[in-house]
Amino acid sequence: MNNLYDETKFLMKKYSINANKNLGQNFLIDENVIYTAIDSANITKDDLVIEIGPGLGTLTKYLLEKAKKVICIELDSRMIDILKERFFLYKNFEIINEDVLKVDLQKLIEKEREKEDLKVKIVANLPYYITTPIIMKLLESKLSIESITVMVQKEVAKRLSAIPGEKDAGAITYSVYYYANCSEILLVPQTSFIPSPEVESEVINLKLRNEPAVKVNSEKLFFRIIKSSFMQRRKTLINGLVNSGIYKNKEEAKKCLNDLNIDEKARGETLTIEQFAKISNYIFNQNI
Ligand code: SAM
Repeated sequence: MNNLYDETKFLMKKYSINANKNLGQNFLIDENVIYTAIDSANITKDDLVIEIGPGLGTLTKYLLEKAKKVICIELDSRMIDILKERFFLYKNFEIINEDVLKVDLQKLIEKEREKEDLKVKIVANLPYYITTPIIMKLLESKLSIESITVMVQKEVAKRLSAIPGEKDAGAITYSVYYYANCSEILLVPQTSFIPSPEVESEVINLKLRNEPAVKVNSEKLFFRIIKSSFMQRRKTLINGLVNSGIYKNKEEAKKCLNDLNIDEKARGETLTIEQFAKISNYIFNQNI
């Protein structure tokens, strides 16, 4: 860990960089974490890696050695010249100074693919203040990517990797499971970063499914039903369906659950993703 600690301190001093808390800047200083994350992403010379938030380039340096090409997206303009200078000799390095949430990733990927047929993998030590929007953007844009290997807060990792219907699951668990298979890779203590974050972190790996986990007639309706039943966690699923306006009254909602053999007293968070899919398709068919 000491080498990376010294290197990071050196770079921060050389370029007069103070970590910006508002941008979620916690720089990695633990080489073991980097090796484990990169191993789990299984990066080869057939890969284009998109790194979100390279910061001072700690992870980037290792990615550049393993991947055919690395495109970094960094919001903090102070980092851009540092990275350009640091990786001046690497022909496979590219940097975009932009908010990742504003970048048209599909266009970026298509442009690269026109030049060369590479597999695309996302790797990042994510800024924690926007972890969920970033992951949802990566999944919902239906990008042609193989996997997403990211460091997130431990609590978020538990939620993303939970099994729908089981402990730790939230509405987002169903979204992630719908698009991907999420595995927990490594717990990372606060001491692996400078400055130390307030919470523990975890590396997770999401492998994108070729087909969604369940077949639904309307993704919009499916996710609306899931969200509505998690808005009021302690209430029954029937209450969620009625309070969100999906059903006009409890009787209609009860009939739906009875027809599908789902316990009418069930709370939303106990349902499997297949049960939510059945409810969604039932309601969809009633409304066409
Ligand atoms: N990859 C570096 C490392 O591991 O040491 C830095 C990781 S730090 C947790 C998160 C990085 O994301 C910071 O460099 C921060 O400036 C950048 N960042 C924050 N918000 C961003 C955004 N909306 N788009 C792109 N990068 C962002």
